[in-house]
Amino acid sequence: MPRTLKRSSTAVLYLTLSDGVQMFKKILIANRGEIALRIQRACNELGVKAVIVYSEADREAKYVKLAEEAVCIGPAASAQSYLSMPSIISAAEVTDCEAIHPGYGFLSENADFAERVEKSGFQFIGPTPESIRIMGDKVAAKQAMIKAGVPCVPGSEGELPSDPATLKKIAKSIGYPVIIKAAGGGGGRGMRVVTDEEHLVSAVQTTKAEAQSAFSNPAVYMEKYLQNPRHIEIQILADQHKNAVYLGERDCSMQRRHQKVIEEAPAPHIPRKLIEKIGERCVAACKRINYRGAGTFEFLYENGEFYFIEMNTRVQVEHPVTEYITHVDIVKEQIRVAAGMKLSFTQKQITFTGHSIECRINAEDAFKFIPSPGRITMWHPPGGPGVRVDSHAYTNYYVPPYYDSMIGKIIVHGDTREHALARMRTALAEMVVEGIQTNVPLHREIMQDPKFIEGGTNIHYLEHWLTTRPQAR
Ligand code: ADP
Repeated sequence: MPRTLKRSSTAVLYLTLSDGVQMFKKILIANRGEIALRIQRACNELGVKAVIVYSEADREAKYVKLAEEAVCIGPAASAQSYLSMPSIISAAEVTDCEAIHPGYGFLSENADFAERVEKSGFQFIGPTPESIRIMGDKVAAKQAMIKAGVPCVPGSEGELPSDPATLKKIAKSIGYPVIIKAAGGGGGRGMRVVTDEEHLVSAVQTTKAEAQSAFSNPAVYMEKYLQNPRHIEIQILADQHKNAVYLGERDCSMQRRHQKVIEEAPAPHIPRKLIEKIGERCVAACKRINYRGAGTFEFLYENGEFYFIEMNTRVQVEHPVTEYITHVDIVKEQIRVAAGMKLSFTQKQITFTGHSIECRINAEDAFKFIPSPGRITMWHPPGGPGVRVDSHAYTNYYVPPYYDSMIGKIIVHGDTREHALARMRTALAEMVVEGIQTNVPLHREIMQDPKFIEGGTNIHYLEHWLTTRPQAR
């Protein structure tokens, strides 16, 4: 039972909403950067107090300055701050919070953290530890999806053995090229493509060793390596009353080193009927596994077919493109359903309008990708109709060198894809960041690229474009 329900008799200032369930009075945001600010804004709109935690390196961040209450949880190193479960839980205790929002990255997909949060008497704003555990193990997740009737990439049945003869047999039956993936992998790491039998056994061994050191889990599995797929994902939301909906798809095919750079919704040139069909499958899977909160089913899409690769059990960086086309506030819904409320709409009430594109703004050299932390001497974000900038940066903000290089996102909405592209070009032209390098010049060029403008590029397109773009020749 959520802590709010247990504590409702304590007669503190609870906000009672329509279905009789009480909204949290105070939540702790266990994250940093733009997503901390995003969650803080959602809390403000809901009338919920937000407690910020920050490392010594993040004292200057915008959301820390804006916070009514902020707790320093340790030094710059994530292991001693944003990844320190005892520090975060103590911060929630001393500030008398009722729930913890994990954001993305850090502890957001750590089932042990979710469990400790709940055992300490707080509500975890996300799915149950069991759901996180199943979905965090990609082998278990795939098995659960196969059972739920969600199409998956053909591959090994579960974890790979180490016996070379069996390995070769499995690879042969799948057909080369294959990809060896870490069951506990994430962030685009722990994957290796194998094109022929000769390299198979050593590739499995190396991936296993890497998986052990990076994810403390040596289990690996094998999949057919799709040659030219697109990355299409389905956003879902589910409450604790057996309601679940899908909020359409996002196309995240513009990637570099398996990391997303640009996302958009809807996905260009995919028949709506196919999206509806896969969306309904995802909803059915959520109901089957008793999923709660926000989640994303990631698929590779090739030749008109969807293949499930993994589920993310948290809010994603690219959630704003979905918010723009559906008018649903995903973060507010996450908080509402964690408090025990019903989703505020049904599938039929969701309407999709226009087109949205997001560019991730990274503090890095635009074409060499070398991180560029430091003091921002000038920050001038774009504005105007249909332009949203989610960022914790400002003029004179110091970008610390310890964390992910993403310092914000520009998201635009237009009536059509062409309109959204025009808005993004204008927004990028207006954006001024001085003092550090950013990838804004990269985005400006991509927005002029004929193939990207056409829409429907595959997951290799960006890397290929980087080596062949006119300026690179
Ligand atoms: P992570 O959790 O590290 O993000 P994913 O399983 O989501 O790993 O895969 C990340 C990216 O790797 C995908 O978006 C895609 O670009 C590539 N990828 C993963 N599996 C395959 C596959 N079977 N065939 C081709 N590319 C793949």
